[in-house]
Amino acid sequence: MTASKKRVVFCDFDGTITVNDNIIAIIRHFNPAGWEPIAQDVIAERKTIRQGVGELFSLLPSSMRDEVIRFATSQAIIRPGFEQFVQFCHEESIDLYVTSGGIDFFVYPLLEPFGIPSNRIYCNGSDFSGETVRITWPHDCQEPCNNDCGMCKPTIVRKFPPEQYERIVIGDSVTDFAAAKQVEFVYARSHLIEKCEQLHISYAPFDTFYDIIEHMKHNE
Ligand SMILES: [Mg+2]
Ligand SMILES: [Zn+2]
Repeated sequence: MTASKKRVVFCDFDGTITVNDNIIAIIRHFNPAGWEPIAQDVIAERKTIRQGVGELFSLLPSSMRDEVIRFATSQAIIRPGFEQFVQFCHEESIDLYVTSGGIDFFVYPLLEPFGIPSNRIYCNGSDFSGETVRITWPHDCQEPCNNDCGMCKPTIVRKFPPEQYERIVIGDSVTDFAAAKQVEFVYARSHLIEKCEQLHISYAPFDTFYDIIEHMKHNE
């Protein structure tokens, strides 16, 4: 790692800042007819993440808005050390961005206690004005990404050139693979560990955000 470059961190939300995946938790809980084949198609890569997430939420009536938000925000558990990690980034002048494939109605309320500026939080949007929930995609893929990510992490990472920044991804799963390939260092858990091993990406495994703080302190 190079001390002269500005450190910037891109941190995933579902399964990283929160212990579990909130989208899966919501859909499982409300259990709308027909969700399982859609989820299977996403896992098998017959559908893109954007298609799959859009179709899953379209199974929920907009009239359930309050109930869905209440459930989503009450079931989530924040991974230990996250509050301290936000503080650490602040003290060390590390720019922290939350790059989430999750949805605004749970991402913003769950992050609210941590004081992260809203222009450093990227996620998908939602529209409850129609018959069923419609997901909106304000940060969709731009060239050369054609993965149909929904919230496109590689597109955001590309705004930070490696000549000026030391770029770090923190994540756990499929939505982090493309961004992890582009950056200088990765903190990984779960499926992202296997991917980093396979592709020989520089990484350290983590369980809590305390692990990341310790590792960063020793690698300045
Ligand atoms: Mg994740
Ligand atoms: Zn993309």
